[in-house]
Amino acid sequence: MSSVLAIDIGGTKLAAALVGEDGSVSGSAIRPTPRTDVMAALASLMDEVCAGGERPQAVGIGCAGPLNLAAGTVSPVNMPSWRDFPLRDEVRELTGLPTVLAGDAQCFALGEHWLGSGRGSSALLGIVVSTGIGGGLVIDGVPLLGPTGNAGHVGHMTVDPYGERCECGGRGCVERYASGPNLARWALDNGWKAPEGEPADARNLARDAADGEPVAVAAYERAARALAGMIASAAAAAEVTRVVIGGGVSGAGPVLFEPLERALDDVAGLAFVRSVDVQPTVLGVRAGLAGAAKLAWDYSDSAAAA
Ligand SMILES: [Zn+2]
Repeated sequence: MSSVLAIDIGGTKLAAALVGEDGSVSGSAIRPTPRTDVMAALASLMDEVCAGGERPQAVGIGCAGPLNLAAGTVSPVNMPSWRDFPLRDEVRELTGLPTVLAGDAQCFALGEHWLGSGRGSSALLGIVVSTGIGGGLVIDGVPLLGPTGNAGHVGHMTVDPYGERCECGGRGCVERYASGPNLARWALDNGWKAPEGEPADARNLARDAADGEPVAVAAYERAARALAGMIASAAAAAEVTRVVIGGGVSGAGPVLFEPLERALDDVAGLAFVRSVDVQPTVLGVRAGLAGAAKLAWDYSDSAAAA
């Protein structure tokens, strides 16, 4: 059966898989992202996945941003050895295959649209809430990437123009309220203490919120309210009908999603905004690879021509 090679590149791990046109996976591998010479690690990962099988038709890559899709270059925040790195051309030369590149959160959204909670949606926003907050839009089945590939940076939508300064240089960004480290930071500043011997992270904060610890509950309600503001704004701008939320923080479950529903009910006004359907991811960490594979299946013809 013919397949494409899907690659997901993040600051902590590299993943690759051979994926059929129906989404079936015929081989996959994962390894930690090295501090230096990421390209050599990526080459050996691709060799491992492709060994012994039929040659894939094309390559799709989802990579942490920022990136420049016009140039095919990436500068991932957590990978200092790659600055304006020509990833698309490097992989194309290495494999001799048509190669398509997009952001990792854009691939998350595309993967959820293809095989996950976003199936059938005509206007989907996928959001990855993790160390940072990323996102991607899929409109009428097509990823909306933007002129340089940076569309969907919803983590840096301002939900409070008088809010705190964000690491991006902006102010009051939703990431400042709802990313994992910022959830934990606010809770610690307000008197929360992690369980004895455990890290003060969003996962332990979620556990305490589920037990009703008031500061932990308040931290998730604050994050949910910020996310609701961002979702309502995105829905108003692009008539988004469905939102799929993934990433580590989404694993908090009801302590995030219940206050999110209540906050959306409060902040959203217009009927089409109020009707936006918010779902947790069903694919989890597999969504990024699924989206990278879909990119390769749908857009490698134009990549070959380029
Ligand atoms: Zn920001």
